[in-house]
Amino acid sequence: MNQQFLDELKAVTGEERLKEREPMSRHTTFRVGGAADIFVCPEYENLPDVIRLCRRYEEPYYIIGNGSNLLVGDKGIRGVVIGMARITPRIEVSGTRIRVGAGMLLSTTAACAAENSLSGMEFAAGIPGSVGGAVVMNAGAYGGEIKDIIEEVTVLDREGRSARLMAQDLDFGYRRSGIAEQGMLVTEAVFRLSHGEKEAIRGMMRRLAQERTLKQPLEYPSAGSTFKRPPGFFAGKLIMDAGLRGYRVGGAQVSEKHCGFVINREDATADDIRRLMREVAQKVEEMSGVRLEPEVKMIGEFS
Ligand SMILES: Cc1cc2nc3c(=O)[nH]c(=O)nc-3n(C[C@H](O)[C@H](O)[C@H](O)COP(=O)(O)OP(=O)(O)OC[C@H]3O[C@@H](n4cnc5c(N)ncnc54)[C@H](O)[C@@H]3O)c2cc1C
Repeated sequence: MNQQFLDELKAVTGEERLKEREPMSRHTTFRVGGAADIFVCPEYENLPDVIRLCRRYEEPYYIIGNGSNLLVGDKGIRGVVIGMARITPRIEVSGTRIRVGAGMLLSTTAACAAENSLSGMEFAAGIPGSVGGAVVMNAGAYGGEIKDIIEEVTVLDREGRSARLMAQDLDFGYRRSGIAEQGMLVTEAVFRLSHGEKEAIRGMMRRLAQERTLKQPLEYPSAGSTFKRPPGFFAGKLIMDAGLRGYRVGGAQVSEKHCGFVINREDATADDIRRLMREVAQKVEEMSGVRLEPEVKMIGEFS
């Protein structure tokens, strides 16, 4: 790593906000992944300079939120990882709108909505992502999706320039948006909700949380649904019907509780998980003719 780049980066972020050789297993819900060359969590106002520095020194950078939809390779990530989840939280409620920093957890944002008797985020309360990650992924559950409640986002482009984009500019689709493809970093989002009854909102969040606990293997590290829902099918059902419930590769396993989840059952490596995902997809295609597409994003270098 270029020492001058490192020194300039430290000057921008502050030394305490930069780590070298940081294991990504500490920053992903799968609890796997090798080290990132550099991991930074700058304050919002320093993000443009971090991007500009990376560009000037031609160092690749990758943005992560809460790491709940990521599989990072065992050999880690070359370049700079910008971690959004530890940035100083920002949240502001005004009427039926919530303006929130992209690093804030979706669950905290949903709790704030409930506290202010605002309805619309009930579906999102149990999704363990950051606001930025949820917008990028158009996260959704129980019939709701981020695209239904987002009004606008503030982004930084690849030159570190800030822009406001309205929901209709974000090219939302099933578990995707145009944000990642355009290499933009989300710094802030505005959700537009509606007035509701505080206790009814909280009650709904509790019910959905109970349902997750009942149906999902929350006791093991995972990245949620491993595959996207193929049109007309459920990935978990296809995997179960292919006889793969509990199927293991090394420490990775198809959850016995919910076949749509690959879990880190016992000291899995990223390679175990990737191999398991490939074998599952192959077997399902053989058995049903349906091709499963990963929902989990794979990044970094694999063995
Ligand atoms: C137990 C469990 C349950 C889950 N349930 C659901 C569910 O019900 N519904 C659902 O949709 N998902 C679910 N997920 C998956 C995951 O929580 C969502 O995809 C979430 O939106 C990812 O957010 P994140 O902050 O963790 O993003 P990360 O995993 O850190 O990143 C995901 C993508 O977003 C990009 N990104 C993150 N932050 C930013 C930013 N600020 N600017 C630009 N790009 C950014 C990353 O580069 C990456 O491409 C679940 C996961 C787990 C572990």
